[in-house]
Amino acid sequence: MPALQPVRGTHDLLPEDSRRHRRVGDLARALAERYGFAEMSTPIFEFTDVFARGIGEATDIVSKEMYTFADRGGEHITLRPENTAGVVRAVISNGLQQHLPLKYFYQGPMFRYERPQKGRQRQFHQIGIELIGVAQPQADIEVIALGCDIIDGLGFGADVTLELNTLGDGESRQAYRAVLLDYLNGHRAKLSKDSLDRLERNPMRILDSKDEGDRRIVADAPVYSDHLNAASRDFFAHVTAGLDALGIAYAINPRLVRGLDYYCHTCFEFTTTTLGAQGTVMGGGRYDGLFAIMGGPDTAGVGWAAGIERLAMMLAETPAAARPIALVPIGEAAERRVLILAHQLRHAGFAVEHGYGGNVGKRMKRANKVNARAAVLIGDDELARGTATLRDLDTGAQVAAPLDTLAEALAQFR
Ligand code: ATP
Ligand code: MG
Repeated sequence: MPALQPVRGTHDLLPEDSRRHRRVGDLARALAERYGFAEMSTPIFEFTDVFARGIGEATDIVSKEMYTFADRGGEHITLRPENTAGVVRAVISNGLQQHLPLKYFYQGPMFRYERPQKGRQRQFHQIGIELIGVAQPQADIEVIALGCDIIDGLGFGADVTLELNTLGDGESRQAYRAVLLDYLNGHRAKLSKDSLDRLERNPMRILDSKDEGDRRIVADAPVYSDHLNAASRDFFAHVTAGLDALGIAYAINPRLVRGLDYYCHTCFEFTTTTLGAQGTVMGGGRYDGLFAIMGGPDTAGVGWAAGIERLAMMLAETPAAARPIALVPIGEAAERRVLILAHQLRHAGFAVEHGYGGNVGKRMKRANKVNARAAVLIGDDELARGTATLRDLDTGAQVAAPLDTLAEALAQFR
């Protein structure tokens, strides 16, 4: 029988991967808390409608990437492909709109049926934030500033560009949609099949097309910024002035869109050229129309999500594992004593390994393998004297230490 394989597009996070992921998640959470965002989690699966409505039927995610199934009770269930819809659902179902503004941080696995490649998995992980209930541009500025701090804090700010655009308000969008549709209809013959499909449902999404032919057409398309009304221009001016005041650099990208009707005003992506084709590490924007679509009262919202795998790939080094103390018993009496000693030291807060079996050489090898900081050698003679030999594994220096105050002697290696 062939060995079992992981499902295509899924990955085991072995300890080194886990440490890289944890570095990203822990730093992001700590910085998010500094900005007043509290961690929350929604279920990994929801009723399919949560995502179908909340992300939109016209999107790639809903139309072809969702992991959807009927459960044993016949409910239509989907593994979450992103977390904004779930957070909005949670705010509505917990009646939290009474407590606006709400500021949430989340992290966890997401699922999309995509073609797996470097930086693109079917199970991947995101960190993200949502700032709910603030209609003013201060929220957009704060959310972007936090994203920037996280990317800088991880050490690769210099390799990442903040791309920024505005989608304006509903009125501006209506005006632009008409102009854009007019232009694109004049080029129907050369549009890709995907873009033709999108033409009526979601023409702005075509601006984002990866198809070469589409891109040539889009290059000469009317630019949205020429069709923004005064209120939309003013909102965006506040956002850019705020970023300027904070010294946050950005590049305006008029082709950057998030194609859904309920996205408005600010949208942005943090991109890099160091990861190859999958260069977007973080994406976000304002979604003031989403609550109404999800059946809640009108509520403003702005946030972003970032791919942990992509951020973890950019980390210059793998964070080191904690270095344990290795206990090395020589002889049976010492072996029994070490079992108890390990327990006591662990309760005193030390990471402890005792090698399980074999002679001194074998146990010292294991101590090196787990990168132990110090070794405690205990033989019959030492046991009789109530002492142990304490060896600094970095310098090789050795001292004798009383067994009953071992924790004190080891404090320097914690
Ligand atoms: P892309 O253009 O790369 O498909 P997207 O627009 O679908 O990204 P979002 O839905 O905005 O991505 O998700 C936010 C972030 O999550 C992305 O910028 C990326 O870092 C990460 N991400 C999205 N899909 C995947 C995936 N399949 N595998 C790994 N990371 C992903
Ligand atoms: Mg995608």
